[in-house]
Amino acid sequence: MQRSAPQSLANFLAAEAQAIADRCTKCGQCVSVCPVIPYGAAVNTPPAQVVGGIVDFLGGQEQLDPASDTWASTCNGCGLCIPACPEGINPRKMLALASARSASRGSKIPELFRRMSRAIKVMAAMQLIPEEFRRVFVPPRRRHTPIVFYLGCNALRTPHLLFNSMAVLDVLGSDYEVVGGPSSCCGVIATKWEGEIRTGERVTANAIDRFEGFSPERVLNWCPTCPLHLGETLEGIARPATNSTI
Ligand code: SF4
Ligand code: SF4
Repeated sequence: MQRSAPQSLANFLAAEAQAIADRCTKCGQCVSVCPVIPYGAAVNTPPAQVVGGIVDFLGGQEQLDPASDTWASTCNGCGLCIPACPEGINPRKMLALASARSASRGSKIPELFRRMSRAIKVMAAMQLIPEEFRRVFVPPRRRHTPIVFYLGCNALRTPHLLFNSMAVLDVLGSDYEVVGGPSSCCGVIATKWEGEIRTGERVTANAIDRFEGFSPERVLNWCPTCPLHLGETLEGIARPATNSTI
């Protein structure tokens, strides 16, 4: 998906939602294969009705049905639904779009980013010496480097795993810079969970700008959520600042 003109994140998400609503036949196959359905409020709701609630919401319905809401908010991102769709729709992306739209009308977890950011800093500070803390929290100076090791924000709760990975990169002789911490969030929390779309747009742009500051050949992602947000939910959006696409 490529677009030539810059567009706002809100307009992009609305267009993506409408495109899925137009294509989905509500067959329910994505719900039938989903492993979280048996554990939530949608367990006794017919699959076509569960997905129908999502599609109707993306198509303009005011409220998200409770069973459909539970499905969207408990999606674990496993991707089992993707090959199940006979229409080539990505149901995981469909649920991300529904979550963002629902949160923008009243988030169930407002101020999630602020609370998460504080918890991350406290937990990291309890586990790291100052030199290590600076390495993962303070953005390095811009320079050309082939690899950006992108930590996201939440992984800094368990910094020993990140430093193990950096030790492997060091042994391999890799030239890389670390980008991570709450100030380098991918924007998924503001966009998908807080429903603050304009804030999410700004946060995402900041993260991409940090990557571009190193002109890297590749970005190594640690967090599984960041590439889903940047590379799947936002795939194809034209960035206002550079007119490039994600
Ligand atoms: S990605 Fe989400 S909706 Fe799809 S199968 Fe996994 S948990 Fe279910
Ligand atoms: S499998 Fe595809 S077409 Fe069928 S309900 Fe799910 S998203 Fe829609």
